[in-house]
Amino acid sequence: MIHLVWYKRDLRTHDHRPLVEAARRGTVLPLYVIEEAYWRLTDTSLRQWAFIAECLRELDAELGRLGQRLVLRRGSVTDVLDVLHRRHRIAGLYSHEETGNAWTYERDQAVGAWARQHGVPWQEYPQSGVVRRLKTRDAWARHWERRMAEPLLPPPEHISGVGENIGDRNWLTAPRGFDRSPCPLRQPGGREAGVALLESFLSRRGERYRSDISSPLTAARSGSRLSPYLAHGAVGLREVVQATRLRLSRLRGPADGAWRKSLASFQSRLYWHCHFIQKLEDQPEIEFRNLHRGYDALREGDFDPDLFDAWRMGRTGLPFVDACMRMLWQEGWINFRMRAMLVSFASYHLWLHWREPGLHLARLFVDYEPGIHYNQLQMQSGTTGINTNRIYNPVKQSLEQDPSGEFIRRWVPELGSIPDGRIHEPWLLTAEEQRGLGVVIGRDYPAPVIDHLEAARAARKRLRGFRQGRSDLRVESRSIQARHGSRRQRGRFRAANG
Ligand SMILES: Cc1cc2nc3c(=O)[nH]c(=O)nc-3n(C[C@H](O)[C@H](O)[C@H](O)COP(=O)(O)OP(=O)(O)OC[C@H]3O[C@@H](n4cnc5c(N)ncnc54)[C@H](O)[C@@H]3O)c2cc1C
Repeated sequence: MIHLVWYKRDLRTHDHRPLVEAARRGTVLPLYVIEEAYWRLTDTSLRQWAFIAECLRELDAELGRLGQRLVLRRGSVTDVLDVLHRRHRIAGLYSHEETGNAWTYERDQAVGAWARQHGVPWQEYPQSGVVRRLKTRDAWARHWERRMAEPLLPPPEHISGVGENIGDRNWLTAPRGFDRSPCPLRQPGGREAGVALLESFLSRRGERYRSDISSPLTAARSGSRLSPYLAHGAVGLREVVQATRLRLSRLRGPADGAWRKSLASFQSRLYWHCHFIQKLEDQPEIEFRNLHRGYDALREGDFDPDLFDAWRMGRTGLPFVDACMRMLWQEGWINFRMRAMLVSFASYHLWLHWREPGLHLARLFVDYEPGIHYNQLQMQSGTTGINTNRIYNPVKQSLEQDPSGEFIRRWVPELGSIPDGRIHEPWLLTAEEQRGLGVVIGRDYPAPVIDHLEAARAARKRLRGFRQGRSDLRVESRSIQARHGSRRQRGRFRAANG
Protein backbone atom coordinates (compact mmCIF):
# COMPACT_ATOMS: atom_id res chain seq x y z
CA MET A 1 0.00 0.00 0.00
CA ILE A 2 1.36 3.41 -0.92
CA HIS A 3 0.45 7.04 -0.45
CA LEU A 4 1.00 8.72 -3.76
CA VAL A 5 2.08 12.38 -3.92
CA TRP A 6 1.31 13.74 -7.36
CA TYR A 7 3.60 16.68 -8.17
CA LYS A 8 2.31 19.32 -10.58
CA ARG A 9 2.96 23.06 -10.15
CA ASP A 10 4.44 22.61 -6.68
CA LEU A 11 8.01 21.44 -7.29
CA ARG A 12 9.38 21.61 -3.75
CA THR A 13 9.41 19.75 -0.43
CA HIS A 14 9.09 22.87 1.77
CA ASP A 15 5.62 23.94 2.87
CA HIS A 16 4.22 21.02 0.91
CA ARG A 17 1.17 19.69 2.69
CA PRO A 18 0.48 16.73 0.35
CA LEU A 19 3.97 15.38 1.04
CA VAL A 20 3.68 15.90 4.79
CA GLU A 21 0.24 14.26 4.95
CA ALA A 22 1.33 11.30 2.85
CA ALA A 23 4.51 10.81 4.92
CA ARG A 24 2.47 10.81 8.16
CA ARG A 25 0.40 7.93 6.87
CA GLY A 26 3.06 5.49 5.63
CA THR A 27 4.98 4.56 2.50
CA VAL A 28 5.28 7.43 0.02
CA LEU A 29 5.59 7.40 -3.75
CA PRO A 30 6.31 10.92 -5.09
CA LEU A 31 5.34 11.06 -8.76
CA TYR A 32 5.80 13.48 -11.64
CA VAL A 33 4.22 12.66 -14.98
CA ILE A 34 5.59 14.19 -18.19
CA GLU A 35 2.34 14.62 -20.07
CA GLU A 36 3.20 14.85 -23.74
CA ALA A 37 -0.28 15.95 -24.74
CA TYR A 38 0.15 18.99 -22.49
CA TRP A 39 3.46 19.87 -24.10
CA ARG A 40 1.82 19.84 -27.53
CA LEU A 41 -0.61 22.62 -26.57
CA THR A 42 -0.31 26.02 -28.20
CA ASP A 43 0.35 27.80 -24.88
CA THR A 44 3.29 25.64 -23.75
CA SER A 45 6.93 25.68 -24.82
CA LEU A 46 10.34 24.14 -24.48
CA ARG A 47 11.59 27.03 -22.33
CA GLN A 48 8.91 26.29 -19.71
CA TRP A 49 9.75 22.62 -19.84
CA ALA A 50 13.50 23.31 -19.50
CA PHE A 51 12.83 25.39 -16.38
CA ILE A 52 10.61 22.64 -14.93
CA ALA A 53 13.21 19.96 -15.72
CA GLU A 54 15.77 21.90 -13.68
CA CYS A 55 13.29 22.16 -10.80
CA LEU A 56 12.66 18.40 -11.06
CA ARG A 57 16.35 17.59 -10.83
CA GLU A 58 16.64 19.48 -7.55
CA LEU A 59 13.40 18.07 -6.23
CA ASP A 60 14.59 14.56 -7.06
CA ALA A 61 17.82 15.10 -5.10
CA GLU A 62 15.94 16.60 -2.15
CA LEU A 63 13.40 13.76 -2.04
CA GLY A 64 16.28 11.27 -2.32
CA ARG A 65 17.83 12.80 0.81
CA LEU A 66 14.53 12.33 2.61
CA GLY A 67 14.35 8.66 1.64
CA GLN A 68 12.61 8.23 -1.71
CA ARG A 69 13.62 9.68 -5.07
CA LEU A 70 11.07 11.16 -7.43
CA VAL A 71 9.36 8.61 -9.65
CA LEU A 72 9.20 9.91 -13.20
CA ARG A 73 6.76 8.66 -15.80
CA ARG A 74 5.70 9.68 -19.31
CA GLY A 75 2.18 9.55 -20.69
CA SER A 76 -1.29 10.14 -19.31
CA VAL A 77 -1.71 10.46 -15.56
CA THR A 78 -4.62 8.02 -15.38
CA ASP A 79 -2.65 5.36 -17.30
CA VAL A 80 0.28 5.82 -14.92
CA LEU A 81 -2.03 5.64 -11.88
CA ASP A 82 -3.55 2.43 -13.26
CA VAL A 83 -0.17 0.71 -13.44
CA LEU A 84 0.97 1.94 -10.03
CA HIS A 85 -2.34 0.99 -8.42
CA ARG A 86 -2.15 -2.53 -9.79
CA ARG A 87 1.41 -2.88 -8.55
CA HIS A 88 1.21 -1.25 -5.11
CA ARG A 89 -2.41 -0.45 -4.30
CA ILE A 90 -2.75 3.29 -3.83
CA ALA A 91 -4.24 3.98 -0.40
CA GLY A 92 -4.46 7.71 -1.03
CA LEU A 93 -3.65 10.28 -3.71
CA TYR A 94 -2.30 13.65 -2.47
CA SER A 95 -1.77 16.80 -4.49
CA HIS A 96 -2.15 20.56 -4.45
CA GLU A 97 -5.15 22.19 -6.07
CA GLU A 98 -4.31 23.59 -9.47
CA THR A 99 -5.95 26.42 -11.39
CA GLY A 100 -4.42 25.83 -14.80
CA ASN A 101 -5.68 25.97 -18.35
CA ALA A 102 -8.70 24.08 -19.75
CA TRP A 103 -6.52 21.07 -20.58
CA THR A 104 -5.24 20.61 -17.01
CA TYR A 105 -8.78 21.15 -15.69
CA GLU A 106 -10.07 18.31 -17.88
CA ARG A 107 -7.10 16.16 -16.94
CA ASP A 108 -7.95 16.74 -13.26
CA GLN A 109 -11.57 15.79 -13.95
CA ALA A 110 -10.32 12.52 -15.49
CA VAL A 111 -8.09 11.87 -12.47
CA GLY A 112 -11.05 12.56 -10.15
CA ALA A 113 -13.19 10.06 -12.09
CA TRP A 114 -10.36 7.51 -11.98
CA ALA A 115 -9.97 7.94 -8.21
CA ARG A 116 -13.71 7.52 -7.60
CA GLN A 117 -13.88 4.49 -9.86
CA HIS A 118 -11.01 2.80 -8.02
CA GLY A 119 -12.09 3.85 -4.55
CA VAL A 120 -8.89 5.85 -4.03
CA PRO A 121 -9.42 8.95 -1.86
CA TRP A 122 -7.88 12.04 -3.50
CA GLN A 123 -6.90 14.82 -1.10
CA GLU A 124 -6.23 18.16 -2.73
CA TYR A 125 -4.79 20.99 -0.64
CA PRO A 126 -4.69 24.69 -1.47
CA GLN A 127 -1.25 26.24 -1.88
CA SER A 128 -2.22 29.87 -2.45
CA GLY A 129 -5.10 32.17 -1.55
CA VAL A 130 -7.33 30.77 -4.31
CA VAL A 131 -10.58 29.32 -2.95
CA ARG A 132 -12.35 26.43 -4.68
CA ARG A 133 -16.11 26.73 -5.21
CA LEU A 134 -16.12 30.31 -3.94
CA LYS A 135 -19.65 31.66 -3.50
CA THR A 136 -18.83 35.35 -3.18
CA ARG A 137 -15.80 37.61 -3.22
CA ASP A 138 -17.01 39.42 -0.08
CA ALA A 139 -14.85 37.58 2.45
CA TRP A 140 -12.10 36.61 0.02
CA ALA A 141 -9.47 38.99 1.37
CA ARG A 142 -9.93 37.49 4.83
CA HIS A 143 -9.52 33.97 3.37
CA TRP A 144 -6.31 35.11 1.72
CA GLU A 145 -4.97 36.57 4.98
CA ARG A 146 -5.80 33.41 6.89
CA ARG A 147 -4.08 31.19 4.33
CA MET A 148 -0.98 33.36 4.19
CA ALA A 149 -0.70 33.41 7.99
CA GLU A 150 -0.76 29.60 8.36
CA PRO A 151 2.52 28.28 9.75
CA LEU A 152 4.96 27.02 7.11
CA LEU A 153 5.36 23.26 7.03
CA PRO A 154 8.92 21.98 7.11
CA PRO A 155 9.63 18.96 4.89
CA PRO A 156 9.15 15.59 6.62
CA GLU A 157 12.31 14.44 8.38
CA HIS A 158 12.15 11.13 6.59
CA ILE A 159 9.91 9.43 4.08
CA SER A 160 9.66 5.67 3.81
CA GLY A 161 10.07 4.81 0.21
CA VAL A 162 8.81 2.11 -2.03
CA GLY A 163 10.60 -0.34 -4.32
CA GLU A 164 9.60 1.23 -7.63
CA ASN A 165 11.67 1.98 -10.71
CA ILE A 166 12.25 5.74 -10.63
CA GLY A 167 12.09 6.05 -14.43
CA ASP A 168 14.53 7.15 -17.08
CA ARG A 169 16.25 10.47 -16.21
CA ASN A 170 17.01 11.05 -19.91
CA TRP A 171 13.34 11.87 -20.24
CA LEU A 172 14.11 15.16 -18.54
CA THR A 173 15.86 16.36 -21.66
CA ALA A 174 12.74 16.96 -23.77
CA PRO A 175 9.27 15.74 -24.51
CA ARG A 176 8.53 16.09 -28.23
CA GLY A 177 6.27 18.26 -30.29
CA PHE A 178 6.05 21.68 -28.71
CA ASP A 179 7.35 25.17 -29.35
CA ARG A 180 11.12 24.83 -29.30
CA SER A 181 12.34 28.40 -29.69
CA PRO A 182 15.63 28.77 -27.80
CA CYS A 183 15.76 30.99 -24.74
CA PRO A 184 19.46 31.38 -24.01
CA LEU A 185 19.08 33.95 -21.21
CA ARG A 186 16.31 32.16 -19.30
CA GLN A 187 16.36 32.19 -15.49
CA PRO A 188 17.64 28.89 -14.10
CA GLY A 189 15.07 26.53 -12.64
CA GLY A 190 15.17 25.03 -9.15
CA ARG A 191 14.29 25.99 -5.62
CA GLU A 192 17.81 27.01 -4.71
CA ALA A 193 17.86 29.78 -7.32
CA GLY A 194 14.37 30.92 -6.24
CA VAL A 195 15.28 31.09 -2.55
CA ALA A 196 18.48 32.98 -3.38
CA LEU A 197 16.43 35.53 -5.35
CA LEU A 198 13.99 35.98 -2.48
CA GLU A 199 16.86 36.53 -0.09
CA SER A 200 18.72 39.01 -2.31
CA PHE A 201 15.49 40.85 -3.09
CA LEU A 202 14.54 41.30 0.55
CA SER A 203 18.03 42.17 1.75
CA ARG A 204 19.49 44.23 -1.12
CA ARG A 205 17.73 44.48 -4.46
CA GLY A 206 14.23 45.47 -3.33
CA GLU A 207 14.83 48.93 -1.87
CA ARG A 208 14.09 50.71 -5.15
CA TYR A 209 11.38 48.27 -6.25
CA ARG A 210 8.69 50.90 -6.28
CA SER A 211 10.54 53.42 -8.42
CA ASP A 212 12.33 50.89 -10.64
CA ILE A 213 9.72 48.40 -11.80
CA SER A 214 8.35 50.39 -14.72
CA SER A 215 11.53 50.42 -16.80
CA PRO A 216 12.81 47.20 -18.36
CA LEU A 217 16.34 48.45 -17.61
CA THR A 218 15.87 48.64 -13.85
CA ALA A 219 13.02 46.17 -13.20
CA ALA A 220 15.23 43.24 -14.12
CA ARG A 221 17.38 44.04 -11.08
CA SER A 222 14.97 45.65 -8.62
CA GLY A 223 12.01 43.36 -9.29
CA SER A 224 11.91 40.14 -7.30
CA ARG A 225 12.17 37.94 -10.46
CA LEU A 226 10.28 35.27 -8.54
CA SER A 227 7.52 34.75 -11.11
CA PRO A 228 8.71 31.46 -12.70
CA TYR A 229 9.51 29.98 -9.27
CA LEU A 230 6.03 30.88 -8.04
CA ALA A 231 4.34 29.71 -11.24
CA HIS A 232 5.96 26.28 -11.04
CA GLY A 233 5.90 26.10 -7.26
CA ALA A 234 9.64 25.80 -6.59
CA VAL A 235 8.97 28.52 -4.02
CA GLY A 236 5.58 28.76 -2.32
CA LEU A 237 3.59 31.98 -2.17
CA ARG A 238 3.09 31.70 1.60
CA GLU A 239 6.86 31.51 2.11
CA VAL A 240 7.33 34.71 0.14
CA VAL A 241 4.52 36.55 1.95
CA GLN A 242 5.83 35.54 5.37
CA ALA A 243 9.46 36.38 4.57
CA THR A 244 8.34 39.80 3.30
CA ARG A 245 6.31 40.47 6.43
CA LEU A 246 9.18 39.47 8.66
CA ARG A 247 11.49 41.83 6.80
CA LEU A 248 8.91 44.63 6.98
CA SER A 249 8.55 44.17 10.72
CA ARG A 250 12.26 44.88 11.10
CA LEU A 251 12.25 48.02 8.99
CA ARG A 252 11.54 50.59 11.64
CA GLY A 253 14.40 53.09 11.23
CA PRO A 254 13.99 56.61 9.82
CA ALA A 255 16.13 55.63 6.81
CA ASP A 256 13.89 52.67 5.97
CA GLY A 257 11.13 54.67 4.27
CA ALA A 258 11.97 53.60 0.70
CA TRP A 259 12.25 49.97 1.76
CA ARG A 260 8.89 50.08 3.55
CA LYS A 261 7.11 51.61 0.56
CA SER A 262 8.73 49.18 -1.84
CA LEU A 263 7.85 46.11 0.17
CA ALA A 264 4.28 47.36 0.63
CA SER A 265 3.97 47.57 -3.18
CA PHE A 266 5.53 44.15 -3.53
CA GLN A 267 3.03 42.69 -1.05
CA SER A 268 0.18 44.07 -3.15
CA ARG A 269 1.49 42.10 -6.13
CA LEU A 270 1.55 38.90 -4.07
CA TYR A 271 -2.09 39.54 -3.25
CA TRP A 272 -2.94 40.25 -6.89
CA HIS A 273 -1.26 36.99 -7.86
CA CYS A 274 -4.12 35.11 -6.17
CA HIS A 275 -6.77 37.74 -6.93
CA PHE A 276 -6.31 37.12 -10.66
CA ILE A 277 -5.99 33.35 -10.46
CA GLN A 278 -9.23 33.34 -8.47
CA LYS A 279 -11.00 34.91 -11.47
CA LEU A 280 -9.93 32.06 -13.75
CA GLU A 281 -10.87 29.55 -11.06
CA ASP A 282 -14.37 31.08 -10.92
CA GLN A 283 -14.78 31.59 -14.67
CA PRO A 284 -12.49 29.27 -16.68
CA GLU A 285 -14.00 30.37 -20.02
CA ILE A 286 -11.94 33.56 -19.91
CA GLU A 287 -9.08 31.55 -21.34
CA PHE A 288 -11.00 31.62 -24.62
CA ARG A 289 -13.71 34.27 -24.39
CA ASN A 290 -14.04 37.89 -23.41
CA LEU A 291 -14.80 38.36 -19.73
CA HIS A 292 -17.39 40.91 -20.85
CA ARG A 293 -19.36 39.17 -23.60
CA GLY A 294 -20.72 42.52 -24.75
CA TYR A 295 -17.29 43.13 -26.30
CA ASP A 296 -17.47 39.97 -28.38
CA ALA A 297 -17.90 41.73 -31.69
CA LEU A 298 -15.20 44.34 -31.01
CA ARG A 299 -12.28 42.68 -32.79
CA GLU A 300 -13.48 39.20 -33.71
CA GLY A 301 -13.88 40.08 -37.39
CA ASP A 302 -10.46 41.62 -38.04
CA PHE A 303 -7.12 39.91 -37.74
CA ASP A 304 -4.28 40.96 -39.98
CA PRO A 305 -1.74 38.09 -40.02
CA ASP A 306 1.03 40.32 -41.42
CA LEU A 307 0.68 42.78 -38.55
CA PHE A 308 0.62 39.88 -36.11
CA ASP A 309 3.81 38.47 -37.60
CA ALA A 310 5.57 41.83 -37.44
CA TRP A 311 4.61 42.16 -33.75
CA ARG A 312 5.49 38.57 -32.93
CA MET A 313 8.92 38.74 -34.57
CA GLY A 314 9.89 42.14 -33.12
CA ARG A 315 9.75 43.84 -36.52
CA THR A 316 7.02 46.47 -36.18
CA GLY A 317 9.42 49.32 -36.92
CA LEU A 318 8.73 50.84 -33.47
CA PRO A 319 12.09 50.34 -31.76
CA PHE A 320 10.90 50.16 -28.15
CA VAL A 321 8.13 47.65 -28.94
CA ASP A 322 10.53 45.51 -30.96
CA ALA A 323 13.20 45.67 -28.25
CA CYS A 324 10.70 44.37 -25.67
CA MET A 325 9.60 41.50 -27.89
CA ARG A 326 13.18 40.54 -28.73
CA MET A 327 14.13 40.56 -25.04
CA LEU A 328 11.24 38.21 -24.36
CA TRP A 329 12.42 35.78 -27.03
CA GLN A 330 15.87 35.67 -25.47
CA GLU A 331 15.08 35.90 -21.74
CA GLY A 332 11.54 34.53 -21.37
CA TRP A 333 10.73 37.42 -19.02
CA ILE A 334 9.99 41.11 -19.17
CA ASN A 335 8.53 43.51 -16.61
CA PHE A 336 4.84 44.21 -16.10
CA ARG A 337 4.67 47.61 -17.82
CA MET A 338 6.29 46.28 -20.97
CA ARG A 339 4.01 43.24 -21.08
CA ALA A 340 1.08 45.63 -20.80
CA MET A 341 2.46 47.84 -23.56
CA LEU A 342 3.03 44.87 -25.90
CA VAL A 343 -0.58 43.77 -25.48
CA SER A 344 -1.94 47.29 -25.74
CA PHE A 345 0.03 47.79 -28.97
CA ALA A 346 -1.26 44.51 -30.43
CA SER A 347 -4.84 45.21 -29.36
CA TYR A 348 -5.24 48.88 -30.14
CA HIS A 349 -2.62 49.97 -32.64
CA LEU A 350 -2.72 46.72 -34.63
CA TRP A 351 -6.34 45.92 -33.72
CA LEU A 352 -5.64 42.22 -33.09
CA HIS A 353 -7.89 40.09 -30.90
CA TRP A 354 -6.02 39.11 -27.71
CA ARG A 355 -6.20 35.35 -28.19
CA GLU A 356 -3.35 34.76 -30.72
CA PRO A 357 -1.03 37.40 -29.23
CA GLY A 358 -1.84 35.90 -25.84
CA LEU A 359 -0.83 32.41 -26.91
CA HIS A 360 2.37 33.75 -28.38
CA LEU A 361 3.23 35.54 -25.13
CA ALA A 362 2.26 32.50 -23.05
CA ARG A 363 4.81 30.44 -24.97
CA LEU A 364 7.48 33.08 -24.53
CA PHE A 365 6.88 33.49 -20.79
CA VAL A 366 8.82 31.02 -18.65
CA ASP A 367 6.49 32.15 -15.85
CA TYR A 368 3.27 31.43 -17.78
CA GLU A 369 0.50 31.40 -15.20
CA PRO A 370 -2.90 31.08 -16.91
CA GLY A 371 -4.89 32.86 -14.17
CA ILE A 372 -2.73 35.98 -14.28
CA HIS A 373 -2.10 35.79 -17.99
CA TYR A 374 -5.61 35.65 -19.44
CA ASN A 375 -6.93 38.27 -17.05
CA GLN A 376 -4.10 40.66 -17.83
CA LEU A 377 -4.50 40.08 -21.57
CA GLN A 378 -8.14 41.01 -21.34
CA MET A 379 -7.49 44.00 -19.10
CA GLN A 380 -4.85 45.38 -21.43
CA SER A 381 -7.01 44.86 -24.51
CA GLY A 382 -10.15 46.39 -23.02
CA THR A 383 -12.50 43.40 -22.91
CA THR A 384 -13.17 43.12 -19.16
CA GLY A 385 -15.65 46.00 -18.99
CA ILE A 386 -14.46 46.86 -15.47
CA ASN A 387 -11.03 48.39 -16.05
CA THR A 388 -9.95 51.74 -17.40
CA ASN A 389 -8.73 51.27 -20.96
CA ARG A 390 -5.11 52.23 -21.35
CA ILE A 391 -3.61 52.79 -24.77
CA TYR A 392 0.13 53.07 -24.19
CA ASN A 393 1.96 55.47 -26.48
CA PRO A 394 5.01 53.40 -27.47
CA VAL A 395 7.20 56.43 -28.19
CA LYS A 396 6.30 58.14 -24.90
CA GLN A 397 7.07 54.88 -23.05
CA SER A 398 10.36 54.68 -24.90
CA LEU A 399 11.34 58.24 -23.95
CA GLU A 400 10.32 57.73 -20.32
CA GLN A 401 11.61 54.23 -19.66
CA ASP A 402 14.69 54.23 -21.90
CA PRO A 403 15.68 57.89 -22.35
CA SER A 404 19.20 57.23 -23.59
CA GLY A 405 18.16 54.36 -25.87
CA GLU A 406 20.39 51.90 -24.03
CA PHE A 407 17.68 49.24 -23.93
CA ILE A 408 16.83 49.69 -27.62
CA ARG A 409 20.50 49.45 -28.63
CA ARG A 410 20.88 46.25 -26.62
CA TRP A 411 18.01 44.46 -28.32
CA VAL A 412 17.82 46.18 -31.72
CA PRO A 413 21.52 46.42 -32.56
CA GLU A 414 20.83 47.46 -36.15
CA LEU A 415 19.88 50.89 -34.71
CA GLY A 416 23.13 51.11 -32.72
CA SER A 417 24.57 54.10 -34.58
CA ILE A 418 21.51 56.33 -34.15
CA PRO A 419 21.99 59.10 -31.56
CA ASP A 420 19.98 59.11 -28.30
CA GLY A 421 17.57 61.83 -29.34
CA ARG A 422 16.49 60.09 -32.57
CA ILE A 423 16.56 56.41 -31.68
CA HIS A 424 12.95 56.37 -30.41
CA GLU A 425 11.57 57.48 -33.81
CA PRO A 426 14.20 56.61 -36.41
CA TRP A 427 11.70 57.00 -39.27
CA LEU A 428 11.91 60.76 -38.71
CA LEU A 429 15.54 60.82 -39.87
CA THR A 430 15.96 62.26 -43.36
CA ALA A 431 17.25 59.99 -46.12
CA GLU A 432 20.55 61.84 -45.96
CA GLU A 433 20.83 61.44 -42.18
CA GLN A 434 20.06 57.71 -42.55
CA ARG A 435 22.78 57.31 -45.14
CA GLY A 436 25.23 59.22 -42.93
CA LEU A 437 24.46 56.91 -39.99
CA GLY A 438 24.61 53.78 -42.14
CA VAL A 439 21.02 52.72 -41.31
CA VAL A 440 18.39 52.89 -44.00
CA ILE A 441 14.86 52.55 -42.64
CA GLY A 442 12.94 50.04 -44.75
CA ARG A 443 16.17 48.22 -45.63
CA ASP A 444 18.20 47.70 -42.44
CA TYR A 445 15.26 48.07 -40.07
CA PRO A 446 11.52 48.06 -40.94
CA ALA A 447 9.58 51.25 -41.49
CA PRO A 448 6.75 51.48 -38.88
CA VAL A 449 3.93 49.09 -39.81
CA ILE A 450 1.43 51.74 -38.69
CA ASP A 451 1.44 55.44 -37.86
CA HIS A 452 1.17 54.97 -34.10
CA LEU A 453 -0.58 58.28 -33.35
CA GLU A 454 -3.09 57.77 -36.13
CA ALA A 455 -3.67 54.12 -35.10
CA ALA A 456 -4.29 55.11 -31.46
CA ARG A 457 -6.75 57.78 -32.59
CA ALA A 458 -8.56 55.26 -34.79
CA ALA A 459 -8.69 52.74 -31.92
CA ARG A 460 -10.24 55.32 -29.56
CA LYS A 461 -12.79 56.21 -32.21
CA ARG A 462 -13.70 52.56 -32.81
CA LEU A 463 -14.10 51.98 -29.08
CA ARG A 464 -16.31 55.04 -28.69
CA GLY A 465 -18.39 53.98 -31.66
CA PHE A 466 -18.73 50.46 -30.34
CA ARG A 467 -19.96 51.67 -26.96
CA GLN A 468 -22.29 54.38 -28.19
CA GLY A 469 -25.89 53.77 -27.15
CA ARG A 470 -25.00 50.44 -25.51
CA SER A 471 -26.42 50.78 -22.00
CA ASP A 472 -26.34 46.96 -21.85
CA LEU A 473 -22.53 47.16 -21.60
CA ARG A 474 -22.76 49.04 -18.31
CA VAL A 475 -25.31 46.61 -16.87
CA GLU A 476 -23.04 43.66 -17.62
CA SER A 477 -20.00 45.53 -16.25
CA ARG A 478 -21.75 45.97 -12.91
CA SER A 479 -22.42 42.26 -12.63
CA ILE A 480 -18.79 41.44 -13.56
CA GLN A 481 -17.61 43.88 -10.89
CA ALA A 482 -19.88 42.20 -8.34
CA ARG A 483 -18.58 38.77 -9.27
CA HIS A 484 -14.85 39.40 -9.69
CA GLY A 485 -13.99 42.88 -8.44
CA SER A 486 -11.55 43.37 -5.59
CA ARG A 487 -13.21 44.22 -2.25
CA ARG A 488 -9.88 45.22 -0.76
CA GLN A 489 -9.87 48.72 0.74
CA ARG A 490 -7.89 51.10 -1.40
CA GLY A 491 -4.71 52.04 0.42
CA ARG A 492 -3.89 48.74 2.12
CA PHE A 493 -3.46 46.64 -1.00
CA ARG A 494 -4.17 49.13 -3.72
CA ALA A 495 -6.63 47.65 -6.17
CA ALA A 496 -4.91 45.79 -8.99
CA ASN A 497 -6.77 47.70 -11.65
CA GLY A 498 -9.72 45.45 -10.96
C1 LIG B 1 -0.28 40.81 -20.47
C2 LIG B 1 0.35 40.33 -19.18
C3 LIG B 1 0.54 38.99 -18.98
C4 LIG B 1 1.10 38.51 -17.79
N1 LIG B 1 1.30 37.19 -17.65
C5 LIG B 1 1.85 36.71 -16.51
C6 LIG B 1 2.09 35.32 -16.36
O1 LIG B 1 1.78 34.51 -17.24
N2 LIG B 1 2.68 34.90 -15.21
C7 LIG B 1 3.02 35.78 -14.20
O2 LIG B 1 3.55 35.34 -13.17
N3 LIG B 1 2.78 37.10 -14.33
C8 LIG B 1 2.22 37.59 -15.45
N4 LIG B 1 2.01 38.94 -15.57
C9 LIG B 1 2.21 39.83 -14.41
C10 LIG B 1 3.60 40.48 -14.23
O3 LIG B 1 4.00 41.10 -15.40
C11 LIG B 1 4.66 39.46 -13.78
O4 LIG B 1 4.19 38.73 -12.67
C12 LIG B 1 5.94 40.17 -13.34
O5 LIG B 1 6.44 40.93 -14.39
C13 LIG B 1 6.96 39.11 -12.92
O6 LIG B 1 8.17 39.69 -12.51
P1 LIG B 1 8.63 39.65 -10.98
O7 LIG B 1 8.54 38.27 -10.47
O8 LIG B 1 9.92 40.37 -10.87
O9 LIG B 1 7.45 40.48 -10.31
P2 LIG B 1 7.36 41.31 -8.96
O10 LIG B 1 6.96 42.69 -9.32
O11 LIG B 1 8.55 41.13 -8.12
O12 LIG B 1 6.06 40.66 -8.25
C14 LIG B 1 6.13 39.52 -7.40
C15 LIG B 1 5.12 38.49 -7.84
O13 LIG B 1 3.80 39.02 -7.74
C16 LIG B 1 3.00 38.53 -8.82
N5 LIG B 1 2.61 39.67 -9.67
C17 LIG B 1 3.36 40.74 -10.02
N6 LIG B 1 2.63 41.59 -10.77
C18 LIG B 1 1.41 41.04 -10.88
C19 LIG B 1 0.21 41.46 -11.52
N7 LIG B 1 0.11 42.62 -12.18
N8 LIG B 1 -0.87 40.64 -11.45
C20 LIG B 1 -0.81 39.48 -10.76
N9 LIG B 1 0.30 39.03 -10.13
C21 LIG B 1 1.38 39.82 -10.19
C22 LIG B 1 3.88 37.56 -9.60
O14 LIG B 1 3.67 36.26 -9.10
C23 LIG B 1 5.28 38.05 -9.28
O15 LIG B 1 6.27 37.06 -9.39
C24 LIG B 1 1.45 39.44 -16.76
C25 LIG B 1 1.26 40.81 -16.98
C26 LIG B 1 0.71 41.25 -18.17
C27 LIG B 1 0.51 42.73 -18.38
